[in-house]
Amino acid sequence: MVWLKSASGVYTAKSGYKAQGETTITEEAPVPETNIDWLANVWKLKTSEKVKVFLWNSLHDALPVGKQSAIRNIPLTSRCPRCNEVESVAHVLFTCSYAKKVWTLAPLAWRFDPSPVITTRNGQETLRLIPSLHPTGVGPGTLSASICWDLWIFRNHLVFQKRDFTPEETLLKATREAREWTISQDQLPKPQSHANRIAQDPTLDPNRTCMYTDAAWNPESRCAGLAGPSSSHSAPDTSLTSPLMAETLALRSALNSALHRGINTLLIRSDSQNLINLVNAKGRHLEIASLLNDIYLISSLFADVKFKFIPRLDNSRADYVSKQALLMYQT
Ligand SMILES: [Zn+2]
Repeated sequence: MVWLKSASGVYTAKSGYKAQGETTITEEAPVPETNIDWLANVWKLKTSEKVKVFLWNSLHDALPVGKQSAIRNIPLTSRCPRCNEVESVAHVLFTCSYAKKVWTLAPLAWRFDPSPVITTRNGQETLRLIPSLHPTGVGPGTLSASICWDLWIFRNHLVFQKRDFTPEETLLKATREAREWTISQDQLPKPQSHANRIAQDPTLDPNRTCMYTDAAWNPESRCAGLAGPSSSHSAPDTSLTSPLMAETLALRSALNSALHRGINTLLIRSDSQNLINLVNAKGRHLEIASLLNDIYLISSLFADVKFKFIPRLDNSRADYVSKQALLMYQT
C-alpha cells in the first residue's frame, strides 16, 4: 500500500483488493483520519447518543460497508446495492445517487451538494453548520445527523432484508426522529443561569443531580467492585491495576450514566481525594490518562458538572455497594 499526500494535506492510500466473484478493484481509499475535531463533529452535535456513536464510527471508516468487507476478505459484495459502484461510507452517506436524492429533498437552509464530498469528514463538517428550514424546528446539524443515520439504516434494510424504501421515506423518518429528539430535550429541566450556579453551593442546589461513586479494590486478585449512581450500578472489573484506576473508572461510569439519563446539571462526589483534585485541576496522570481524557470530554457535554470530595464515612452507601460487588465476584 502506498500513502500519498495531496496538496490540501489529505492523505490517501493506493490499495487493491478483490471481492468474491469480482475483478480486482484498484482505487484511492481514504486513510482513517486521526486529526478529526470529534468534539465539534460528533459529541457536541445536538442528536441522540446512538446517532453520535454511529457518526463517530462513520468518521473512522468503522462501518461494515462493502469496501471494508473486500479489504478484510469477507465474502460479501463490495458494490453498492443501489447503484453498483464501490461502496464506501462516504458513498452510502453522500455520493450514492440515492443519498443525493435524499439531500436534494432535505429542508436545509442552504443547498448542500454532496457530489464533491471525498470523505465522510468533508460531508459532516459542512452539514453540522447548516440550519434546518422552518417548520422542522430542529437546530443545525440535528436533521443532517438523523439523515445520515437513516441512510445507513435503510441501506441495511436493503442489504439484509431486501426491503427498499424511497428517498422520501428516508427523509420523512429522519425528520420525524430529529423533531422527536428535539422535543424530548425541550422537556428536560433547563440548566440554571451562570450567575445562579456561582451563587449557590452545589450541594444545596435542588436542581442539581447528585451522584456518589466509590470503588473497592483487591490488590491480589486485581478485581474491583464499582458503585455508581444507584445501588444497581455495580460491576466487578479484573483489568484494573490500582485503587485510583478503579475510582476513576467508577467516576467515568457515573458520568456516562448521567449523560444517558439526559441529566444536564450534575454533582459527582467521590471519597478519592486524589482523583477529585486531579479532575478539578484538569490534570494528567500516566496510569489513568485515557480515562481522564474521557472524563474531560464527557464533562464538556453537560451544562454544568462539579466534582467534590466526600469523606468515606459520608459515602457509606456507595462504599457498601462497591464492596458487595467485589464480594459477589470473588465468591
Ligand atoms: Zn450507490
